Amino acid sequence: GKPVLKNPKLLRDKSYVDGQWISASSGKTFKVFDPATCQEIGSVPEHTAADYAKAIEHAKKAFASFSKTSNRERSNLLRKWASLLTENSEDLAKILTWENGKPLPEAKGEIASCVANFEWFSEEAPRIYGDTIPSQNPNTRIHTIKQPVGVCGIITPWNFPASMISRKVGAAVATGCTTVIKPAAETPYSALALAYLAEEAGIPKGVVNVLTTNEHVQDVGREICENPLVSKVTFTGSTNVGRILMKQAASTLKKVSFELGGNAPFIVFEDADIDAAVDGAIASKFRGSGQTCICANRFYVHEKIYDEFAKKLAAKVSGFKVGNGLEEGTTQGPLINEKAVQKVDRHVQDALGKHAHALVGGKPATELGENFYSPTVLVDVDASMAVTQEETFGPLAALSKFSTDEEVIKLANNVEVGLAAYIYTNNNSRVHRVSEGLQVGMVGVNTGLITESALPFGGVKESGFGREGSKYGLDDYLVIKSVVNAI
Ligand code: ADP
Repeated sequence: GKPVLKNPKLLRDKSYVDGQWISASSGKTFKVFDPATCQEIGSVPEHTAADYAKAIEHAKKAFASFSKTSNRERSNLLRKWASLLTENSEDLAKILTWENGKPLPEAKGEIASCVANFEWFSEEAPRIYGDTIPSQNPNTRIHTIKQPVGVCGIITPWNFPASMISRKVGAAVATGCTTVIKPAAETPYSALALAYLAEEAGIPKGVVNVLTTNEHVQDVGREICENPLVSKVTFTGSTNVGRILMKQAASTLKKVSFELGGNAPFIVFEDADIDAAVDGAIASKFRGSGQTCICANRFYVHEKIYDEFAKKLAAKVSGFKVGNGLEEGTTQGPLINEKAVQKVDRHVQDALGKHAHALVGGKPATELGENFYSPTVLVDVDASMAVTQEETFGPLAALSKFSTDEEVIKLANNVEVGLAAYIYTNNNSRVHRVSEGLQVGMVGVNTGLITESALPFGGVKESGFGREGSKYGLDDYLVIKSVVNAI
């Protein structure tokens, strides 16, 4: 049912454009459902591309003044926004769990990561330095300044309804950019709550605009990518949608940064601390019920320790408490929708139909609700199975055996994508050799949890480009202007 909020104003059913809370110009709305109960949460505006185009105009107008504010001023706005998130973190976490399904402690963690992102970018904002460059001509001086790129279109997924937005809009506000944000239709409420707190924090109107849409997503995506007033598009989501957006953005040659799908290998070498590897596997694989882009998707375990690792992992997974994320003690929530359940089941059935075996799980948990799947551990998995080739995005740990380092690096790299990888080993030279050999953007060594604001987050190959967070996280929102001065 409906969670009780201390501040009910955080639950918004209008979009936020140019400092106003608005409906769609057509008056249409679409419904949003709780994935745990399949009950309706409420309705939000069904905006068309024309509504987004108006918001883009407002963002462009706001850019004229916001781009001229001092870096310190923007830093202070982000700090204020962060502190309002902290004050409202309980409510924000409840809203997040309600629409996304993840257990409340995970939702609290996500809100904490939003706070950390805003704080991080508030600290980066005053340190956007240019260079003084010695010219090859004695009568010339060169310096550079970094300027905000302009209006940023932000398109985000449902798996981290708050933190994916914070990592993008935090960088945008820090640099003096303005934004038009399109959250996922499954999870608009976290995005609208962030907009409400942006307003409360005193962020000038037109800087943060959040509009919701469901049916019109393709037209809206095109508008964001092709509207000449937008200078940059940042997207987190699937590789296939990334391809579409990149083609569209080519028409006006926008700056793009994409964080797309992964298919993370999780490699346990024979010298690893097996208990630590099991804990890391749980953290990496089963967070958000396996619906994070950096979730381990393929487990490669050395043949000498394979049976022990599998047994210990299965024992822990059997201890999970699957249920409604708002209920105390729940460790695993539902998947986002029925389609997600079907994908996991397709991977499981495909593997079982070949020669894999389930140590635990292996079927939907329909007794809990339509969107639940039993956390599953499969053994005897190999490269012929769909689960090793595609990202499952669900609570399925698929275990394969390997014998040599060369073999496992080859297996790990044998996919089109490259976001995260995890390795467990106590051999220091192996840490370096394997990390350097893996075709990914991020490697977790003896840890299953890597994300934080200080980390340059992003992928290689078809997992996209650009780095979010970290000292590099502002670069995608800035352009370098070179000033050549004859004296
Ligand atoms: P997921 O499988 O995680 O939903 P998607 O890539 O489909 O991944 O969705 C991520 C975000 O991209 C969501 O906000 C979704 O609404 C949006 N999206 C999906 N299709 C398009 C499109 N053609 N143009 C623009 N945005 C899109």
